[in-house]
Amino acid sequence: MAIREGAWDCPACGRTGIRGSKKYCGGCGNPRGDDVQFYLPDDAAEVTSAEELERAKAGPDWICAYCGADNPGEDGFCSGCGAPPDDARRREVREIRPDDAKETVPPVQPPAQKPRRSKAWLFGCAGVMAVVVLVAVVLFLIFRPQSAELQVEGHSWQRTVSAEAFRTLTETGWQGEIPADARILSQSRQVRQYRKVQVGTERREKVVTERKQVGTKKVKVGVKDLGNGYFEDIYEDQPVYEEVKKTVTEEEPVYREEPVYGIQIQYEVDRWIKIPDKTVDGRSRQPEWPALADKERAVERTAVYMVLFRDADGDVYEYEAPDESAWLSFTKGQRYVGQVIKPTKKVKSIEKKTGS
Ligand SMILES: [Zn+2]
Ligand SMILES: [Zn+2]
Repeated sequence: MAIREGAWDCPACGRTGIRGSKKYCGGCGNPRGDDVQFYLPDDAAEVTSAEELERAKAGPDWICAYCGADNPGEDGFCSGCGAPPDDARRREVREIRPDDAKETVPPVQPPAQKPRRSKAWLFGCAGVMAVVVLVAVVLFLIFRPQSAELQVEGHSWQRTVSAEAFRTLTETGWQGEIPADARILSQSRQVRQYRKVQVGTERREKVVTERKQVGTKKVKVGVKDLGNGYFEDIYEDQPVYEEVKKTVTEEEPVYREEPVYGIQIQYEVDRWIKIPDKTVDGRSRQPEWPALADKERAVERTAVYMVLFRDADGDVYEYEAPDESAWLSFTKGQRYVGQVIKPTKKVKSIEKKTGS
């Protein structure tokens, strides 16, 4: 049980690191005073002399109620004024364990370092931005709608039907799970699934690791402020463990897979099923719908009606009419003004009719 001398700081004059055994400040001569708390410097040496050890073990100092001087535990009168220790307060004896230290210092996190960017990188970045802006401007200029004089050249249309056909399907299923309108073709007994059945047990050896206490060791867990300028180390017995490998025998179940049979049925059933879309197109002004065969039905019908225009330079543009009647209102030879997208050869909008 090592004992070390602590230290204290003078609240009157500010002197620090005053030896714990001193009851008066070497700087201003004042007694320690009520508020002084002892601390143990990191480099405090162990106390070995018999005289000092005796002082350390004499119990906490008492503080004179009349003059404020500290006095050794066993002294019967105050060294400052001669008063007896009758109502004197004794200094606190307390244990300090790092585990229950209230003020834990949060770990200091190194500030995240941002990767430094070179000037070349910044110039490169600005260059890329400039190219992106330039490309955007060029694309806008190329694809912007432009006004054009247009003459109706012709018509085109495309009509699509997504359809279903009524077909006979051949399927298989388990008894009790086939459709009510199924026409049974054949049935047979088949393995439907396998079931695990325990047929016995088996002895198996297994190595397990166990933790076993093999003794104790003394560990320093803190210090005790003796209330008189000295500190005593606190030791605790902590268990010492050892890992021991052990072989154990266990009974383990043994399983067998057992087939479970069911009646499998092959059957026919009639169903509407999706068939590939049917499409027709043409250039006449009389559009038709794709023909549906016997036992086929339409699920959805869609149509696209296009008008072909020619501009003053002879280029042909396509215009998608909003519906069939709008499409039919355009007649070959009629003149219009509209907005066109040159690279895609599309008419974006028709603005007005200018003649026929
Ligand atoms: Zn002082
Ligand atoms: Zn006194």
